[in-house]
Amino acid sequence: MRAGSSSWVVLVRYGEIGIKGEATRARMEKLLVKNIKDALARSSLDYVRVARLYGRVVVESYRSEEEAESAASTIARVMGVVSSSPAYRVEYGDLEELVDKAEAFFRNRIRGSRFAVRARRSGSEAFTSMDLARLLGEKLRGSTGLSVDLENPDYTAYVEVRGKNAFLYDSIIRGPGGLPIGSEGRVLVLFSGGIDSPVASWYLMKRGCKTDFVLFDLGGEDQVNSVLAVAYALVSRWGYGYNPVMYVVDFREVATRIVASVPEEYIVIILRRLMMRTASILAEKIKAKAIATGESLGQVASQTLDNMYVIDRASKLPVLRPLVGFDKEEITSMARSIGTYEYSVKVREYCLLGARKVVTHSNIDRVSRIERQLGIIDRELEELVERARSIRIWNLEIEELGRESGRERCML
Ligand code: ATP
Ligand code: MG
Repeated sequence: MRAGSSSWVVLVRYGEIGIKGEATRARMEKLLVKNIKDALARSSLDYVRVARLYGRVVVESYRSEEEAESAASTIARVMGVVSSSPAYRVEYGDLEELVDKAEAFFRNRIRGSRFAVRARRSGSEAFTSMDLARLLGEKLRGSTGLSVDLENPDYTAYVEVRGKNAFLYDSIIRGPGGLPIGSEGRVLVLFSGGIDSPVASWYLMKRGCKTDFVLFDLGGEDQVNSVLAVAYALVSRWGYGYNPVMYVVDFREVATRIVASVPEEYIVIILRRLMMRTASILAEKIKAKAIATGESLGQVASQTLDNMYVIDRASKLPVLRPLVGFDKEEITSMARSIGTYEYSVKVREYCLLGARKVVTHSNIDRVSRIERQLGIIDRELEELVERARSIRIWNLEIEELGRESGRERCML
């Protein structure tokens, strides 16, 4: 970009990264920049440069407002981003020149009859944010004949000054906040593709985890495909900055053996514990530091605290449950807003034949006895892990997936 020129850019704000110590902050900012570049590349959006500038990231530069707008909406789905704005960048010499340039930009954009000017300045300019807001407000009032209303404006003109650059904008797109993916380690999510586990994954991604996924296949090819479609919906919207894998473990024979010999009310608990044991083996292999599920406390009979206790004892790694305190309604509304809900409702729930009852307060001694009788040894589970399919979500050809397979509900 030529010095002195003006251009469309995207102004990116981040929150929590900014309050870290210096070294962590520099590392996280670099990661955020890397993930923003990944988001733009995956969306076939060009950029000239992605630069860090006084606590902001600025993506330069676009030929038109439309281009900057589509880049800004993509960037608003990068974890760690608090908000983004398509902005017109101008360079200025003194306050008078800045006010002139800003007035020329905003004059024809103001909608409605009452406007406000919000100015922010960081750096060591000779003027204050208040000076700038007042002068620009007066000038715009003169040229448009409209009135200023700071409480309830129809239109807000934002000016952000960073050194000798000023960014002019009037729209702010909210991002997820949180931390850039990759700032935490790897987590293996038990991903059934229902409404809950994708939302649980989203929250972990939002806190910077690289999430890989494991699906225990109980229902065959159609079920696997519909779950992959959910994973793709999640990753293609929010998974910028890493390359997640779905592991599909064939659990049909294990399930059949459980159903054949385990007392009905223990079937679900034993199945979950075997999932945990198997997930632990896989997690260690892929160097994940934790396992995660989409459970929330008390949502269904299998998700009581007593059952969570018994299920967790089967895992060698910490088990994270990002949704533990959420109501079903809250989870559903999150699923809608992150874009996974419509795919999740197409996933058929696999109902274990005969398991109409689930013990709500399972007992670890009883469970251990049943498992000894069942006699599934680690070596068998290791073999299942070795035979697991691994699928890179970004590489999926999504048209092949998501065939509807009817819906059945399990209230276990
Ligand atoms: P979800 O909406 O995520 O399917 P749910 O409300 O249906 O959850 P359960 O069926 O009790 O609840 O499953 C609880 C959790 O166990 C899921 O959130 C998921 O993490 C894990 N899970 C269940 N079934 C499977 C499976 N077949 N493969 C992988 N993980 C599973
Ligand atoms: Mg489910």
